This record gives sequence, structure tokens and C-alpha cells, in this order.
Amino acid sequence: MTPMILAASDGGSDTGSFVLFVIVAAVAYVVHCLVWPFRACRKCGGAGRFRSPSGRAWRYCDQCGGRAAQVRLGRRAWTYVMNTRDRSKH
Ligand SMILES: [Zn+2]
Repeated sequence: MTPMILAASDGGSDTGSFVLFVIVAAVAYVVHCLVWPFRACRKCGGAGRFRSPSGRAWRYCDQCGGRAAQVRLGRRAWTYVMNTRDRSKH
């Protein structure tokens, strides 16, 4: 009987530590997105523009509008949460 009880309690602590790990990882990711809110645009690879085949002309990337950067998902989520909190205050 004792090994079964031990196994059950081990399983419970594993689930608890896994949930804790996910929470810590999520908080770390959001904090990381606050410090580094942008990532390179996927479409232009961080260049912000596309060159024509001739090499003399170019146009802005339509995905990022020439900024070469995109706001990361964690930062967008943070902005959304902050906006929701601001609205509830008023
Ligand atoms: Zn781009």
C-alpha cells in the first residue's frame, strides 16, 4: 500500500510543480516582452523594405510599413490587459 500512496503523492507534486513552472515561464515571457517589445518583421526579415530585381528601386514592406519591426504577442497582450484595467477604472 505504501508505494501506491507514495506514487500518488509524487504525481500530485509533479503536477503542482509543472503548473508553477508554466506560471513562472509565462511571467518571465511577459516581462521579457516588456523589456524587448519588438521582434524583426517576418516578411522582410528585419530589413523594412524590399528591393526590386534591378536593385535600384525599393518599396516599404507592407507587413510592417517600413519599420522592420513587429510588436511581440506578449507585449500586445500586456497592452490589452492594461487598456482593460484603465477602462474599468473610469
Ligand atoms: Zn516587414
